[in-house]
Amino acid sequence: MQPELVALLAVQEDDGAIRLIERDLAALAPRIASLDKARQRVHDEVERSRVAIERETERYRTLSQRITDHREKHEKNLATLDQARKLREATAAMAQVEMARRVLAEEESELAGMARRLGEMTSAQEAHRSAAAALEAEQATARAEIASEQERLQASLKAALTVRNQKAAGVNPGLLSRYDRLAIRRKSNALFAIRGLTCGACDTAIPLQRRNALMVAGLIDVCEACGVLLFASVEPPAAEASAEASA
Ligand SMILES: [Zn+2]
Repeated sequence: MQPELVALLAVQEDDGAIRLIERDLAALAPRIASLDKARQRVHDEVERSRVAIERETERYRTLSQRITDHREKHEKNLATLDQARKLREATAAMAQVEMARRVLAEEESELAGMARRLGEMTSAQEAHRSAAAALEAEQATARAEIASEQERLQASLKAALTVRNQKAAGVNPGLLSRYDRLAIRRKSNALFAIRGLTCGACDTAIPLQRRNALMVAGLIDVCEACGVLLFASVEPPAAEASAEASA
């Protein structure tokens, strides 16, 4: 076997291992996303209750102010009633006092309702806040685990790439880039030993002339059917073929 072919096979083996590391790294992303989603959900609830309390508090303030104004007017009405000398004046003042008293009573009951609601909303907000804090604590372990796993995988990816690139230096750049393009497109092996008289990847029969070039001249050729790189090996690496099938 040509040294270049041996080197390219070694590169391919490393690439298989690198793809596995990349797959494991990629598998962490949905785990992080799901933690983020759960966290966002509880934070949204806290925020929603904060906004609702803010709005209700504003309404409470407005109504309180209106009640203060109405009470002042009511006091004035009462004073007017006190000072009314004539019956007609007294009747008019009395009507005003009665009306203001009704309005005040309605407003005060509305204000009491608001205060009750605000109390309930504050309790709900507290509950959302504790839920958010509990979730943070609960997620901390999972997040730390994922982070250390990520770090570990990234370190081994870096190491694997360094070794792989050292090996790749022994392969002709033209052949290497053909292999790289194929391997990236296939997300899998790109270099296959011929299996008997057929392509090791797709099992299509190889024309006689090409077969001779492969077997006699020891060249690397392309499968006309599936496009993978083919080589002839006295002992076809069966392990790689089965790894490919399971990938
Ligand atoms: Zn093929």
